Amino acid sequence: MSPIKPNPGLLDIEPYKGGKALTDSGRAAIKLSSNESALGPSPQAVAAFRDVVASLKRYPDGAATALRTAIAGHYGLNADHIICGNGSDEIIQLLCQAYLGPGDEMLYSEHGFSLYAIAARAAGATPVAAPEKNRITDVDALLAQVTPATRIVFIANPNNPTGTYLPQNELQRLRAGLRDDILLVLDAAYAEFVRRNDYAAGIELVAGNDNVVMTRTFSKIYALAGLRLGWAYCPKAIVDVLNRIRGPFNINIAAQAAGIAALQDRAFTEAAVDHNEKWLAWLEAELRQLGLRTEPSVGNFLLISFPETAGKSAQAADAFLQQQGLILRRMESYGFANALRLTVGTETENKAVIAALQLFMQDGNDAAK
Ligand SMILES: *Cc1c(COP(=O)(O)O)cnc(C)c1O
Repeated sequence: MSPIKPNPGLLDIEPYKGGKALTDSGRAAIKLSSNESALGPSPQAVAAFRDVVASLKRYPDGAATALRTAIAGHYGLNADHIICGNGSDEIIQLLCQAYLGPGDEMLYSEHGFSLYAIAARAAGATPVAAPEKNRITDVDALLAQVTPATRIVFIANPNNPTGTYLPQNELQRLRAGLRDDILLVLDAAYAEFVRRNDYAAGIELVAGNDNVVMTRTFSKIYALAGLRLGWAYCPKAIVDVLNRIRGPFNINIAAQAAGIAALQDRAFTEAAVDHNEKWLAWLEAELRQLGLRTEPSVGNFLLISFPETAGKSAQAADAFLQQQGLILRRMESYGFANALRLTVGTETENKAVIAALQLFMQDGNDAAK
């Protein structure tokens, strides 16, 4: 037996599974499993990426100053309160590393983003899930699960994979109900897609409290998932802690350049939001016609529940769709045994999914055929 032992609890972690890019038989397919924006990245971001080739020899700016300044300008924030991460995943991990340890509890919502529990366990802490009401984060249920050991609460808003959201007043009520020494992390990965008057990503809550952090990403609306770029807006004291423990050059030069260019191309971002609004509504209506339940999503994805009828389960649908070259996301690891998550795609992709699901839902059509 090897004398090398990892820290306690690490081997209990179920590794994160991303959305598949190939079907089970290894075919390239239409990939609607990871919530990247249907329109892809801005051509200006792609051009900026190409341009960094001339500078590959040099280390990136470890403080990502130009990028933080661009983010601050775009969202109306103070750049000193922004930290960038190698994906918002890294920021989630840094927060857990900094503020959780053995004996501590991390509280999240039952069907919340699965990385929270992984990052908490990696820090030696215990994830605690609060039940949801109608597949929506439930503030009262969260507050009821708070114990003296609770140190961080993670809320994805809108939530992935349900697409549902909490209005600003509910987030305020959650913050007001938590002890001051509990950090509230608002993961607003899909904020740019949301067009609701009562929604707020969390900027005001961060500004008005010294125990709230908002995380954001360039992976979804900006479709730069492959470059790994996220950021957080934090109280100064928290930025200061995270800057001490992050990798000194955690944002590569391509991500810094492409991120800035993506922010500048406001027309492209608007077009991506418009596209999503149109096709999300279309997909919802088509799925309803097929008798398939969806949650009221404000993101760029839909959680589709399948009937309990034999041959019509989510698993059968997944196999059938894969035969048609379509990949959605299986949801067992999020506690939804009979659902698939569909990312809003291009017009062609959306129509292909609906056509395939029409076939699947017809009598006698299932994956066994
Ligand atoms: C996709 C996603 C992220 C991860 O974003 P990266 O910046 O790519 O690490 C974080 N939170 C939620 C809820 C997501 O769906």
